[in-house]
Amino acid sequence: MDYKIIRSKRKTLVLHINSDATLTVKLPYGVSIAYAEKFIVKKRSWIEKKQAEFITKREKHKPKQYVNGEVFSFAGKRYELEIVPGSKAELSLTVEGKFRITQKCLEAPKHYVEWFYKQFAKQYLTGRTAELANALGYRYNSIKINSAKTRWGSCSYKGNINYSWRLVMMPAEMIDYVITHELVHLDIHDHSSRFYNRLQLHMPDHKRREKWLKVNASLF
Ligand SMILES: [Zn+2]
Repeated sequence: MDYKIIRSKRKTLVLHINSDATLTVKLPYGVSIAYAEKFIVKKRSWIEKKQAEFITKREKHKPKQYVNGEVFSFAGKRYELEIVPGSKAELSLTVEGKFRITQKCLEAPKHYVEWFYKQFAKQYLTGRTAELANALGYRYNSIKINSAKTRWGSCSYKGNINYSWRLVMMPAEMIDYVITHELVHLDIHDHSSRFYNRLQLHMPDHKRREKWLKVNASLF
């Protein structure tokens, strides 16, 4: 494991993961490098977990390059981009886990890929909402897909549910959270304790998912 050691006036050893995922060890004067090395070995799994988080974050902030092997996420499943010859714009997800697009799509890749995400979102969110509504006993009027950047879902008094297609870039359990949240709004339109009590009944670990969404939502 690579790391940089900085001597510091602090009394305790500090491990710091930098934004480029490298490790810096702040070592108090008088503490040996051998001690630091032992400490790193002991903390290895924590360090690797943190480094992986930084790398994931960086990946998500990076604009898509639309090159072979680039990973795209659809409802929590990872698909590798595969560019195939073709003068007609065609996009599909294969059972081998490929997101296959024709060369034609590269003329306006963002446009075509977003279009495909919208189609996928419509199908996935319609199906999953029907399943969950059925299981939990809710009735809604319609489902529409929009392109909102920060609002994953909303629900009107008339029972119309809206989702952003960007939602399907998140893990499946987070999508389920947003769907369940909107379903509860069919009955309870505010975020009162009554709302959260009901949500708690449907999804006992909703707090964990909310926390995850707060931390990660801006990355999608
Ligand atoms: Zn809400």
